[in-house]
Amino acid sequence: MNQPGINKFLKCKFCNARAVHPRLRLCKEHFIRYFDKKVLKVLKHVPNLENQSLLVAVSGGKDSLTAAHVLKRLGLKITLYFLNLGIFDFSLESERVVKAFAKTQCLDLKIDVLKPSLPELLQSLSKKKIFRKPCSVCGLIKRYRINKYAFEQGFSFTVTGHNLDDELSLQILNLATQNFEQAERLNTVLMPKPSLKLAGRVKPLYWLSEFDIALYAKLNNIEVVNSRCVYNKGNKQFLIKRCLNNVEQSIPSFKQGLLKSIRKLLKHKAGELEFDTSNVKPCKRCGYPTTSKDQVCSYCKIFENLD
Ligand code: SF4
Ligand code: ZN
Ligand code: ZN
Repeated sequence: MNQPGINKFLKCKFCNARAVHPRLRLCKEHFIRYFDKKVLKVLKHVPNLENQSLLVAVSGGKDSLTAAHVLKRLGLKITLYFLNLGIFDFSLESERVVKAFAKTQCLDLKIDVLKPSLPELLQSLSKKKIFRKPCSVCGLIKRYRINKYAFEQGFSFTVTGHNLDDELSLQILNLATQNFEQAERLNTVLMPKPSLKLAGRVKPLYWLSEFDIALYAKLNNIEVVNSRCVYNKGNKQFLIKRCLNNVEQSIPSFKQGLLKSIRKLLKHKAGELEFDTSNVKPCKRCGYPTTSKDQVCSYCKIFENLD
């Protein structure tokens, strides 16, 4: 999406300073207050928040770096986690951006390296005629690795940069395919389940749009990765996001209203839905949780198929 522009003549509706957010008509100070309020709407569901150790998954993109920036500014204890997927120059640039961010923000950073790399892994799978979408393999690996690291190192929660557009487009896709199994993703916060080797999960940007996040990153001079991942093509969620943004241009707050309605339709209130663990068992190979019938998790299956 385009970086948000700033109209020089528009005034803030609260203080008459120059507005940086045209639709909300907010100046920088009032926009940051609005932003923090949306983040705190999620964080209030984390019990004993100040004493929790949070592991923030950063990719070098605007969402995850903004999530880390806002949590640090709110005074929370955070550590950054970056997984180098070995996707050619894209991963190299991402690592450089993340390291620079950690240095300027004085934050601890754990760098993990995927071996074999994602391209090697995908090639190996296709040689065995196992065709999986790169983004689904990538997402699965990222979720597994950050949870494993968080669990082993004693972090109570992992944090991701999922935003309103990500969540809404995914839920629309789920509705269109009658996939109701991912309903727990509607939760902004999932509690830790140590008996299942699961760290808790938090999505602080859940109620903020991509536009809001891009504006926050710009106002706070957060450097983000410029290049695109080679696998980022023909993504269905991207198509849905584009349609929703077109509608939002004419109907303000359409996206937020729709996401709230979907949550209500599925009879869940913010933070109240518990992850159904009745069919979750430890993987026979690695001990981490799986819902697979043969009790071998998808992560282990991917790595079992290597040459
Ligand atoms: Fe992973 Fe897909 Fe993102 Fe590339 S575009 S980093 S494969 S999720
Ligand atoms: Zn103002
Ligand atoms: Zn496993």
